[in-house]
Amino acid sequence: MSSEVREQDPEERHTDFDNGKAHPARVYDVFLGGKDNYPVDRAAAAAALAANPRGYLDVRHNRDFLRRAVKRLTGQAGIRQYLDIGTGLPTQENVHEIAQRLAPDSRVVYVDNDPVVLAHARALLTSGPDGVTDYIDADFNDPDLILETAARTLDFEQPIALVLVAILHFVEDAEAHSVVRRLVEALSSGSRLVLSHLTEDLNAENVRAVQRTYTERGFTFVLRSRAEVERFLTDNGLEVDSPGVVPVHHWHPDHAAPVPERPDGDRLADLDTIDQ
Ligand code: SAH
Repeated sequence: MSSEVREQDPEERHTDFDNGKAHPARVYDVFLGGKDNYPVDRAAAAAALAANPRGYLDVRHNRDFLRRAVKRLTGQAGIRQYLDIGTGLPTQENVHEIAQRLAPDSRVVYVDNDPVVLAHARALLTSGPDGVTDYIDADFNDPDLILETAARTLDFEQPIALVLVAILHFVEDAEAHSVVRRLVEALSSGSRLVLSHLTEDLNAENVRAVQRTYTERGFTFVLRSRAEVERFLTDNGLEVDSPGVVPVHHWHPDHAAPVPERPDGDRLADLDTIDQ
């Protein structure tokens, strides 16, 4: 633990939030070593980590996949617009920072339904002067609202990368497929879909144990096989780029990421004492 002064605890800052229930964005934040989470979220993270001790690595690999994907799409595919749904809490390298480093005119719209993400959205609205960022407080299951609001910032006649990274496992089949279809249909040719998803194809026993810890806490948590994940692409007529649907850390690795460490010990230390 460094000696830096801690920010005010989010519980004190946002007393109107439902602190009795863990939220996916904040549990994810625990795994990334962030500070914007509550004891219930840390308890959920600890339970997930007990079920799957390498879970924090998966999360960091996932975030690193997002970084590489945005880098490639901006640098090699010429993408200048991103619609990132299920953004998560602002962290070190947000989509617009990665994209605008390579192409300062990049435009990014973030969407999430978590009130804590909304409270921190300022940190996502720090676009450079040549680009634009916007934040939409909306649910994935309301694609019409998302598309209508995103059109204030993005030009749907031009290619857009739709980013659905680590969100679809929080959405049941009934909505997941129809909403992805609706979103993809709104994109012009040359657009891209960046997608990652939890699966039980790998490390099945542990991943199912994690699923139990999440469903006990009232999260929707749908594990999909590689074939099921591929359906989001093939059912919508999308071509799958090389190397196809693979474990995130196998997708164009660039070895730029530091070796991930376990989330901050101090933040997790009190977890055993929390009755969740
Ligand atoms: N995409 C980021 C964060 C993943 S965590 C990354 O991969 O690093 C999943 C995020 O999806 C959380 O921020 C959570 O609040 C959001 N989310 C889950 N269900 C959602 C829904 N129905 N609508 C909008 N956002 C949702």
